Amino acid sequence: MSSLISSTIDLDKDGIQHGYLQLLHSVHRSAYGYIPIPIASLKNGDGPTVLLMSGNHGDEYEGQVILSSLIRTLPLDQIRGQLIVLPMANFPAAEAGLRTSPLDQGNLNRSFPGSETGSPTQQIAHYIENTLLERADFLFDLHSGGSSLFYQPTLLFSVTKGDPHLEIKQQIEKAFGLPYTLYFERSNAGSFSSAAAFRKGVCSILTELAGGGTVSKGLPKLAGDGLMRALHRIGVLTTSPEPVTTTGRTFLAEGSIFASEPGVYGPLADPGDDVEVGQPAALIHRPETPGREPVELFFEDTGVILAKRQQARVIRGDCLFHIGQSEKQG
Ligand SMILES: [Zn+2]
Repeated sequence: MSSLISSTIDLDKDGIQHGYLQLLHSVHRSAYGYIPIPIASLKNGDGPTVLLMSGNHGDEYEGQVILSSLIRTLPLDQIRGQLIVLPMANFPAAEAGLRTSPLDQGNLNRSFPGSETGSPTQQIAHYIENTLLERADFLFDLHSGGSSLFYQPTLLFSVTKGDPHLEIKQQIEKAFGLPYTLYFERSNAGSFSSAAAFRKGVCSILTELAGGGTVSKGLPKLAGDGLMRALHRIGVLTTSPEPVTTTGRTFLAEGSIFASEPGVYGPLADPGDDVEVGQPAALIHRPETPGREPVELFFEDTGVILAKRQQARVIRGDCLFHIGQSEKQG
């Protein structure tokens, strides 16, 4: 069944086009209105088709800055193939600066494959998977830590046994040149964009770029240049910024530390720190109960802290640290 979303631009046409995906949305203030999801197409002849996406989570801003800049500045004659760009993929969430959509509470990155007749977030997921990924060879989904997490700049690859894209992913990792890379396993039947890409035979690349509900100084340039080098490596751009000379660190497993009870969490380590099993990770203070000692949490594995929670107030189950483990040697 085809989507109820229509596009104001023709993805088959060469040239630079800016427009909107129109998702019909009938509400009290606008009976026959639509949600305008920004889209751009930069197409120049034959070559790979690449879907570039940010604002999958609406409170992650670095990718939105990088892709807006790319739409404005990339000359068409440097493209061989097509870049389809969704700078605010879950537009209602991105417009509100929220991780999830205020219309239906939908988390786009837990909504694939979506539904053509479902809620707005489900319809967006369905359109991305069945119309945009259907025609793509690569997906770059630019995430950041959002409001609740702050990340070291990290490239993420979802991998499976016999991954047909493993070799090109390793080349993209080298070209991108971020300080950290994490290979992780997720079910390919799942609701993430990486699972949607897998179902369509698309090579998917994700990032986690700082976050904390802001745009970190220097990050759009660091990751934007990396993205250009990666796009050059896969053959869709004819030029690229200078390669990085530093070598990044790569991790083959991940771990997390969660709050064990409610309170005010005080971290005892920062993103980028090397940590060991048994090392103190955080104190959870209980100002509600005067005289009570804080609860001490410890790291359970050896690795590097890729992200830590931003806000101090926690409840049981909040993720405090995301850790890269099993470092790849050489
Ligand atoms: Zn995200």
